[in-house]
Amino acid sequence: MKKLLILGAGTAGTMMANHMIKKLPREDWEITVVDQYKTHYYQPGFLFLPFDLYKTKDLKKKGEKFIPRGVNYILKKIKKIVADKNEVILEDETLSYDILIIATGTKTFPGETEGMDGKGWYKDIFDFYTYDGAKALRNKLRNWEGGKLVVHITEMPIKCPVAPLEFAFLADSFFKNKGMREKVEITYVTPLEGAFTKPKATETLDYLLEEKRIKQVVDFNIEKVDNENKKITCYSGREVEYDLLVTVPTNLGDEVIEHSGLGDDMNFVPTNKASLQSKDYENIFVIGDASNLPASKAGSVAHFEAEILEENILRYIDGKPLKEEFDGHANCFIETGNGKALLIDFNYTHEPVEGSFPFPGIGPLKLLKETRMNHMGKLAFRWIYWNMLIKGTHIPFVSAKMSEKGKNFDN
Ligand SMILES: Cc1cc2nc3c(=O)[nH]c(=O)nc-3n(C[C@H](O)[C@H](O)[C@H](O)COP(=O)(O)OP(=O)(O)OC[C@H]3O[C@@H](n4cnc5c(N)ncnc54)[C@H](O)[C@@H]3O)c2cc1C
Repeated sequence: MKKLLILGAGTAGTMMANHMIKKLPREDWEITVVDQYKTHYYQPGFLFLPFDLYKTKDLKKKGEKFIPRGVNYILKKIKKIVADKNEVILEDETLSYDILIIATGTKTFPGETEGMDGKGWYKDIFDFYTYDGAKALRNKLRNWEGGKLVVHITEMPIKCPVAPLEFAFLADSFFKNKGMREKVEITYVTPLEGAFTKPKATETLDYLLEEKRIKQVVDFNIEKVDNENKKITCYSGREVEYDLLVTVPTNLGDEVIEHSGLGDDMNFVPTNKASLQSKDYENIFVIGDASNLPASKAGSVAHFEAEILEENILRYIDGKPLKEEFDGHANCFIETGNGKALLIDFNYTHEPVEGSFPFPGIGPLKLLKETRMNHMGKLAFRWIYWNMLIKGTHIPFVSAKMSEKGKNFDN
């Protein structure tokens, strides 16, 4: 028997197990997926939990529910990948492989910034990128009486780069609905030059921040968090005071990538951006947030990558040249509060622009425009995630290759 080993059973690893079980003959191939935790979290829901918009039960399910029959599912911590020997070391056993898929994602490391996880951590400094952080922040916001709310990104890249903006927008409508918006000063602090990484979307998002009276502090490269005096300081000496700091700590690849000598300086695996093959080992492929691809780190991106990767693994097995076709396609809803959202659709070469989606001229979703229909789309994403996305089901009308139809590139 030949062995396909998948590391990580989050969004991307679960999807690949579902894709490959349908394609590889069971008499020839054994498929195994390894993860350290038995719970699968719907991470996009971590945005809604702090505002009491989702319940904890909406966000977590047993991972085994989504691993298809016929795939071995091992719940253990992965200690090391020994790529020269085609082996992976777990806590108490060693697995061998013919083909390896790395899907270990990225996670937050607050300890990378001086003072971030100091005595204010989960008292007046919170993250919402983890289940524990989002839940602790929900409890804090239920009784918070107002003051200076600072929404902050430590450094790029981060997964779902629009989530901190969405947090700021939802905070604006949350406090309005509670009748206490006047008691809260919201400041958005980013290491970027503007609200987002792409110029056209930044224009729209900057406008929305202004409209919602959210102050922006850009080019802020944080040096430390001062827990005593409740302020964050940047290397250039600028300071921003907070009563409540909601931060996205540094995102790095898992430690196993570093221990295995397979990562760059942020523990992301150097990967061919079109074929998803590792740059160093031809029988290793990388999907999702674990790679160093210049695409967004998002579940939607992993979904598009999975279609290409399925085919490339089959081609690799047959000794055929790999398809170099992943174009960096990302499709993300941006909640803007008050029951509305924007939608952005972009890839490596095209930045988000206005237009209609998925049907040119018809929509019903509007690109880079705030609409209620887009908000419905964002809410529907949770159902799509649990019932289609991680089960590897094709989502109609949305293909891995970004469509240029219906988009106003000339404006
Ligand atoms: C607040 C927030 C909002 C988001 N919103 C959106 C959105 O609206 N749309 C969207 O498309 N995406 C969104 N995302 C991003 C999306 O959740 C991620 O991009 C996606 O989950 C990446 O999938 P992945 O499989 O690469 O990583 P993950 O889903 O994080 O899975 C990695 C898995 O690997 C396992 N693992 C890692 N290291 C080890 C080890 N050493 N041993 C054993 N197991 C290990 C982990 O336990 C984990 O289960 C959001 C994320 C956050 C945090």
